[in-house]
Amino acid sequence: MSSGNVGGVDDARRAELAANLAAARTRVDDAERAAGRSSGEVTLLVVTKYFPAADVLRLIELGCGEFGESREPEASRKIAEVRAALGPGASAQPVFDMIGSVQRKKARSVARWARTVHSVDSAPLVEALQRGARAALDAGERTAPLGVLLQVSLDGDAARGGVSIDGLPALGDVVAGASDLHLRGLMAIAPLHGEREMWMAKLAGVHADFVRRFPDATVLSAGMSGDLDVAVKFGSTCVRVGTAILGLRPIP
Ligand SMILES: *Cc1c(COP(=O)(O)O)cnc(C)c1O
Repeated sequence: MSSGNVGGVDDARRAELAANLAAARTRVDDAERAAGRSSGEVTLLVVTKYFPAADVLRLIELGCGEFGESREPEASRKIAEVRAALGPGASAQPVFDMIGSVQRKKARSVARWARTVHSVDSAPLVEALQRGARAALDAGERTAPLGVLLQVSLDGDAARGGVSIDGLPALGDVVAGASDLHLRGLMAIAPLHGEREMWMAKLAGVHADFVRRFPDATVLSAGMSGDLDVAVKFGSTCVRVGTAILGLRPIP
């Protein structure tokens, strides 16, 4: 498989991605070690939004297998391109998670390609995803239930998405009652104000309470390029890293 033209420009991009990826992996390793956690415990989800399929293909060649996308229809198009380039016989098929907010009318298309949706924050969205997952299963577009993480708003600022901490148990019950969804855990984006450590410590407590009620919901998706180290210290099981690996995103 080739990720594109074998030219000087391409080689430079590949080298850049390789160096950035190695540095990001070292950060995750160091944070795991510092926290006394086992090596490899934290998933590195590479966030490729705004970047082309060619970059996803280069990252696959560099050993990445799990990606995060945040916008439709960009994600659907890119994933189709990646799968076409790899071909059905490829030894390792990448998986893609949806990490951005989902409009209900996009739930059906997201259910075609997403392993897990990280950004679920309302009962109507849960219902739309359940319908989308059912339809995708019936159509043979997916074979497993759609994973769901509830996005929690740590400071209660609804404008930035996420369900309030108080609303988590009830929304968790709605997901648990949906036959084609699988409640896997929580996701959070640390508020911009206040101390990162304070928010991540708070999130760790919220997740511990959540797991007592939903024992299967062991995933904690937290930490991005700027704060993955702190997130790993406080129990994140999945860091979502874009800029540190791919560089600054082009302005949409
Ligand atoms: C874009 C995005 C990221 C990646 O952020 P970086 O700071 O570029 O690493 C992580 N999580 C979500 C929800 C995003 O939308």
